[in-house]
Amino acid sequence: MDIANFIRNIPDFPNTGIQFKDITTLLKDAKAFKATVEALADHFKSEEIDLVVGIEARGFIIGSPLALFLDCGFVPVRKEGKLPATTLAKTYQLEYGQATLEIHRDAISPGQKVIIIDDLLATGGTTRAVCEMVEELGGNIVGIGFVIELVSLKGREKLTSYPVHSLVKFDI
Ligand code: AMP
Repeated sequence: MDIANFIRNIPDFPNTGIQFKDITTLLKDAKAFKATVEALADHFKSEEIDLVVGIEARGFIIGSPLALFLDCGFVPVRKEGKLPATTLAKTYQLEYGQATLEIHRDAISPGQKVIIIDDLLATGGTTRAVCEMVEELGGNIVGIGFVIELVSLKGREKLTSYPVHSLVKFDI
């Protein structure tokens, strides 16, 4: 199955000039959704992973079933102010302005094998910030997975220390 066919392009969302890759059309198709999660599980299954770290919000949708496939736990990285216990926060630069993400400080034990999951790799700034948080907590990042990679934005160049796997590559 070619899951690229299930991804919808929405021009000028949320801002003029952005081609938004909409995965809701993939998620609502049972076979395409399952094929997506299975493809990521196939790629990472040999690693004996302890935790899937998913990035709010679409990283939760893909990362949670992936954790079940891989028989491991799931850890959410959330936008600031959402997690109830003591957190580690990281502020990072966006194209315009900045954003802050948080993770529970007790979410990862030192040495645990972690993969980080999001729906899409663009400039890589978001995932890079999450890598720094996971490593600050002592996690061992054994891989990073995306459904979509926007190759022209060269996000991989911010993640060169890690094995990065994406299922579908688009130029923009
Ligand atoms: P970046 O930090 O630039 O790699 O941006 C990645 C985050 O922004 C991911 O959580 C994506 O869901 C979201 N994102 C960035 N660009 C797009 C796009 N063109 N379509 C859909 N989501 C995007």
